[in-house]
Amino acid sequence: MNSHANAAADVVSRAINPMNEVRCFIGLGSNLNEPIQQVRTALTELNSLQGVRLTRHSPLYRSEPVGPAGQPDYINAVAELQTTLHPLALLDALQQVEQKHQRKRIQHWGPRTLDLDLLLYNNETINNERLTVPHPYITKRNFVLRPLADLESDLTLPDGSKLMQHLADCPMGTLQQLPL
Ligand code: ATP
Ligand code: CA
Ligand code: CA
Repeated sequence: MNSHANAAADVVSRAINPMNEVRCFIGLGSNLNEPIQQVRTALTELNSLQGVRLTRHSPLYRSEPVGPAGQPDYINAVAELQTTLHPLALLDALQQVEQKHQRKRIQHWGPRTLDLDLLLYNNETINNERLTVPHPYITKRNFVLRPLADLESDLTLPDGSKLMQHLADCPMGTLQQLPL
C-alpha cells in the first residue's frame, strides 16, 4: 500500500474502530449573544461532530474576562470527548463549530460568541504552528482548572504535574459556578 492509501486506511479504521478513540478535553467560552445558550448549543454540536462523542461536561461557570477591559463576563465549561480524529482534524472541527456561531477574530482576547480550545489530547504533547497541546494557559486559568477538576480531579498532565496542584496555586478570583 502506498502512503496515501495507508493514511486513508488509517482514517477508515479509526472511524469504524472505537478502540482507536482517544480522550480529550475542550474548554468552551462565550461572552456575546446569550453566552449560556451559546455554550449549551456548542456542547450539543460537539457531540454531533463526525468522529466525536461527548462523554461528560462540567457545570457552567461565570468568569471575569481575560484581556481587554470592558467586555462582558464569560460563561465557561469544559467538555470531555472521545474522538477518532487526529489533533489537527479535531482543531478544524472545533473551528468549524466556532464559525457556526459567527465567531469573529477582531481583537486579541476580545469578546467572542464562542471559543473552543483543545486543552488536552490523550496524554500527548503537541507543538506545531497551528496547535499547542496542552493548551498554553491550561495551568493558569481558574475557569479551565476548576471545571476540569470537576470532571477528573486526579488528572495528571503530560509533564507529570498534577491538576490539583495547579488548582491550589491558581487564584479563584470571582469565578462562580452557575446553578445546574
Ligand atoms: P488563548 O489561546 O490564549 O485562549 P484565544 O482562544 O483567544 O487565546 P484564538 O484566537 O481562539 O485564541 O486562537 C488563535 C489560534 O490558536 C488558532 O487559530 C489555533 O491555530 C491556535 N491554537 C494553538 N493551540 C491551540 C489549542 N490548544 N486549542 C485551540 N487553538 C489553538
Ligand atoms: Ca481561549
Ligand atoms: Ca481559542
